[in-house]
Amino acid sequence: MAKQDFYEVLGISKGATAAEIKKGYRKMAVKYHPDKNPGDKEAEEKFKLAAEAYEVLSDENKKARYDQYGHQAFEGGQGGGRGGFGGMDMDDIFSQFGDIFGGGGFGGFGGGQRGGGRRAMVKGTNMRIRVKLTLEEIANGVDKKIKVRRKKQAKGVTYSTCTTCNGAGQVMQVTNTILGRMQTAATCNTCGGAGESLKNKPSGADAQGLVVEEETVTINIPAGVTDGVQLKVSGKGNEAPGNNSVAGDLLVLIEEIPHETLKREGVNLHYDLYVSFPEAVLGVSKEIETVSGKVKIKIEAGTQSGKILRLKGKGLPSIERYGSGDLMVHVNIWTPQELNKDQVKFFQSNLEDDNFKPNPTKSDKSFFEKVKDMFS
Ligand SMILES: [Zn+2]
Repeated sequence: MAKQDFYEVLGISKGATAAEIKKGYRKMAVKYHPDKNPGDKEAEEKFKLAAEAYEVLSDENKKARYDQYGHQAFEGGQGGGRGGFGGMDMDDIFSQFGDIFGGGGFGGFGGGQRGGGRRAMVKGTNMRIRVKLTLEEIANGVDKKIKVRRKKQAKGVTYSTCTTCNGAGQVMQVTNTILGRMQTAATCNTCGGAGESLKNKPSGADAQGLVVEEETVTINIPAGVTDGVQLKVSGKGNEAPGNNSVAGDLLVLIEEIPHETLKREGVNLHYDLYVSFPEAVLGVSKEIETVSGKVKIKIEAGTQSGKILRLKGKGLPSIERYGSGDLMVHVNIWTPQELNKDQVKFFQSNLEDDNFKPNPTKSDKSFFEKVKDMFS
């Protein structure tokens, strides 16, 4: 099934302003919020899709790519790289877009709590960073050491069970209504639903007992990632307060540094090779730059301009590990722009020579036909 247009998802028009995009998302997020639609899978999917749409349309760069290429812009290689990294999960959405609901209820102490259920594990907020990679790094995979500043529980901090709710994270409330007394569960105001409160606060720690520390995180980047893909390093986001908590995740957005001579197209690479007129006539051996070092290729005598040489497996590895793409070498014949007298004489004397007359056979397809064939 084709994926729904992101503008449609948010119920806005293509020319929507940033404020309209935010408003559109807020509307959809409220409408399909899991608290409002408990157990409704379809609503959950719509909620996730709205978050995804907002993630793209609220980011100037991503929006520009989406406007130009549509959903394809975020599908790398074969079969779409995004799925492999799990896209966005609910925690992700809540930690990232908590602010859109005007704060309160999401994020912070008890941030992992939702849906009026029992006491949940408190999860710290996710952090996002961008990592720039060269094509060579993408081709081979790389371990990147990145310094991040993340919230951690301060040394010596202690938490104790909340005395208001006895650690349950919620309290029962009795209200008198015209139908009689009604008992409902409500999130504990003292601990915000975490079931724990700060006992010993070391100096320098914030109200939740957290401090910000710099840490070097090693990110294993697999070969074949694409620009715009997001990797998740579990547990390397911000820590949350309390004994019963887990750290958020570190979300790594991949950015590809354009290569000087190689152009990427999914798993395939393209290289423009220029040969001189005599080289094309007589044949020549040329050195080509690839992502795995230099390679010698042979240009046959009588090679036509526009010929494409396909170097099997010299492209990029597929993220799904089904082998590698190819490197396409496009042969361009350089026409001399200045000639001496002898050269002019030589070419003039051959103007009517049959050997120099274009005589394309059916096998000499046009450049565009060849390119079309290659991707069909
Ligand atoms: Zn409590």
